[in-house]
Amino acid sequence: MKNTNSKHSDILKQIIEGNEEFISKNHPDYFLSHSKSQNPFITLLTCSDSRVQTNAILPDSINKIFCIENIGNQILPSEGSVDYGILHLKTPVFLILGHSDCGAVKAFMQGYETEPKSIKLELDFLKNANLNLDKNSGDFEEILMQNSLKNIDYQVNIALNKYSEKIKNEELIVIGAFYDFYNELNNGFGKLNIISMNGKKDNSKND
Ligand SMILES: [Zn+2]
Repeated sequence: MKNTNSKHSDILKQIIEGNEEFISKNHPDYFLSHSKSQNPFITLLTCSDSRVQTNAILPDSINKIFCIENIGNQILPSEGSVDYGILHLKTPVFLILGHSDCGAVKAFMQGYETEPKSIKLELDFLKNANLNLDKNSGDFEEILMQNSLKNIDYQVNIALNKYSEKIKNEELIVIGAFYDFYNELNNGFGKLNIISMNGKKDNSKND
């Protein structure tokens, strides 16, 4: 193949072999069971970060999770996709999932003027999240985590306004959560910590 090197070939091999392994583990009935239409029950908005994956939530998420990912798990840059999950596919749950060590929040805190315009445009949406940009207000990692939690609240608030009718009619709940692969909240490595349900904080999350 032209314009490829050995690294590309290795990755291509992994893709093809990974898919072959997947096929060998699943009977055709598995694919036929969801071949005609999709019927997910979760619209998931999370970060593109490669460490955050749907198998951290459900071991087999096919036809269960309508997943939207972008840098910083944001509604506004992907509003059409989010609406598709909630208004068109009518999932009863909208899960907004932030995470440890978020590069998007980190970039916003550190300044992103030198990033390509396309990236700047997406990060600009975080301007209204009221993140703490005071470098002297504490330990950077701690502020980063608090800002990631603030971003979840910000996204949840957008959702509460956008989908207020559906929430009022009990057709939808909006869950804000933090995927904690650093164990920053001391509830365990890899724990999905529920932060809020329809904007109400879960004070029992440290139980
Ligand atoms: Zn992230």
